[in-house]
Amino acid sequence: MTNTTTPERLGFQTEVKQLLHLMIHSLYSNREIFLRELVSNASDACDKLRFEALNNAALFENDADLKIRISFDEKARTLTVSDNGIGMSRDEVITNLGTIAKSGTQEFFQSLTGDQRKDANLIGQFGVGFYSSFIVADKVTVVTRRAGLGTDQAVRWESEGGGDYTVEMTEKAGRGTDITLHLRAVEDAKDELASGWKLRQIIRKYSDHIVQPILMKKEEWKDEKQLPSDEDETVNRASALWARPKSEVTEEQYQEFYKHVGHDFEPPLAWVHSRVEGRQEYTQLLYIPAHAPFDLWDRHQRHGIKLYVRRVFIMDDAEQLMPVYLRFVRGVVDSADLPLNISREILQESRDIEAIRAGCTKKVLGLLEDLAENQKDKYAGFWKEFGRVLKEGVGEDHANKERLAKLLRFASTHGEGQEESVSLADYVGRMKEGQDKIYYITADTHLAARNSPHLEIFRKKGVEVLLLSDRVDEWVVGHLTEFDGKSLASVAKGGLDLGSLEDAAEKQEQEKQAGALKDVVERIRTSLGARVKDVRITHRLTDSPACLVADEHDIGGNLARILKSVGQDAPGTAPILEINPTHPVVERLRGEEKHFDDWAAVLFDQALLAEGGQLEDPAGFVKRINQLMLEMGGGGSRIVLPG
Ligand code: ADP
Repeated sequence: MTNTTTPERLGFQTEVKQLLHLMIHSLYSNREIFLRELVSNASDACDKLRFEALNNAALFENDADLKIRISFDEKARTLTVSDNGIGMSRDEVITNLGTIAKSGTQEFFQSLTGDQRKDANLIGQFGVGFYSSFIVADKVTVVTRRAGLGTDQAVRWESEGGGDYTVEMTEKAGRGTDITLHLRAVEDAKDELASGWKLRQIIRKYSDHIVQPILMKKEEWKDEKQLPSDEDETVNRASALWARPKSEVTEEQYQEFYKHVGHDFEPPLAWVHSRVEGRQEYTQLLYIPAHAPFDLWDRHQRHGIKLYVRRVFIMDDAEQLMPVYLRFVRGVVDSADLPLNISREILQESRDIEAIRAGCTKKVLGLLEDLAENQKDKYAGFWKEFGRVLKEGVGEDHANKERLAKLLRFASTHGEGQEESVSLADYVGRMKEGQDKIYYITADTHLAARNSPHLEIFRKKGVEVLLLSDRVDEWVVGHLTEFDGKSLASVAKGGLDLGSLEDAAEKQEQEKQAGALKDVVERIRTSLGARVKDVRITHRLTDSPACLVADEHDIGGNLARILKSVGQDAPGTAPILEINPTHPVVERLRGEEKHFDDWAAVLFDQALLAEGGQLEDPAGFVKRINQLMLEMGGGGSRIVLPG
């Protein structure tokens, strides 16, 4: 540790510079939120100290009375937020206030549009935190000392929010952090932040739920002016919001509390607050955000559920309290029974925690069911943001598989849009007479699914097919084999058994056609060799000459491609080529001698292309097509295509 008295000048990480610039420009109309962010950090710092002190009471330095203080100097136009929480060491200051340590930060900045209003929202989702001070301040000074370090081991950090900041060692008697903002000039006196009245108003609005007392100097009328006195007063309620009865918490208070625990900028979509009694006693206040955070796909992202034990903060992001597929849920769980010294390691094995997790999961699913039932628009919004994550649950959470299945939404041939809005129950309600399966197709894109040749017979018969084009959908259908007593069936797998959707006359006709083409089928099989597992006549096609299907227990083409793209080799089973006996191209093959192998190869390749696959030899395909086109133009037998 360098113990220098001259300030050292250091540059911000590039992303911090970008964030500062954007924030100052796009969040000005929301500038009051800076105080919420600073108070929120101060509160977290107090929570962290209390937790560390469980094992090391010396950290309290004989002062276990945790609090936050807000003071201002009207003349100097400064505002200071102080806490006697954990504080920061020099290294921590440099890491925490000079860099952003979130994965996906770079991608996040690339996603910004330059449109201030849209970006303001995005920045909110990213989390503005400490840096939001620069919306209202043109200089910020932080003086901090980590609990347990000597009084001469404090650090002074200062920046004007440009490209750099300074750090130097300094002295500080009390542990914790003082953040002083040198306020920017305001045009309108009513926007003045160095005002007791204004600050109280902002605190009550945004930070009432903070557990520690937020102190300010009481103001008194003297000589017709309101002046600070020596006496302190607590400006917020300073009680744990989740511990209050529901009837005593307003909608706004729930929302502001969410912004604190969820590090979010926008109000949540929905929440559930309840107290559980019985073998395990705990309170849960769980929120579903309105929007996915930018790092939703990072399965290690932080900021999940905060765990408290009898109001004492124990840890952030207690991932054991929520299954991974509900990682977007934010909130608080406060247990009455767990020991205060519980560690992450113990949490992992604790059966009590398992029971709490099961209880929290049920509550969240109940909340979602309620939205799906009674607030369909909200549920649609939820599904758009988090549907893909919830789908993971079908394979992850065996105990709740049926409840999850009911919450799933898919695109289907029933609607024209791409939206995933069809539930399995909707589908079952529309099933045709004689239909006993729930049909689906998986493909790489929605269009590939919608236009797949495999759907031709289903269109003709008016049978709905679910169109699955999320990667995770393969996982869903891999684990969900039936719903409401009906099995789920891929239209691109196995033999097509339409059961009583086909009548006897159709079946007879099919057998006749199969007999007539036996020879052609055999020749194609020989020609394609190992590229196919089998070749057979199909009745699933009306317009296309051929398609590929996977054998009943083989892995489908789409899944094989997904696995390949993530570097996993799928077991190499060849597909089955099915040909349409009524198609003129297939008819044409009967009399073909010279180019039979080319025709067979083209049939196979086009079927592969139609399902989104990649040709092994694209140049060969092009060459064959050209050759066949020339041959046709040169007076060979003409092909009349249907449709
Ligand atoms: P976030 O709170 O989302 O982590 P911030 O930019 O607000 O992001 O803060 C960055 C980090 O700086 C915090 O995670 C915390 O470690 C540290 N920090 C901020 N304010 C304080 C404070 N008052 N006391 C101790 N540490 C703080």
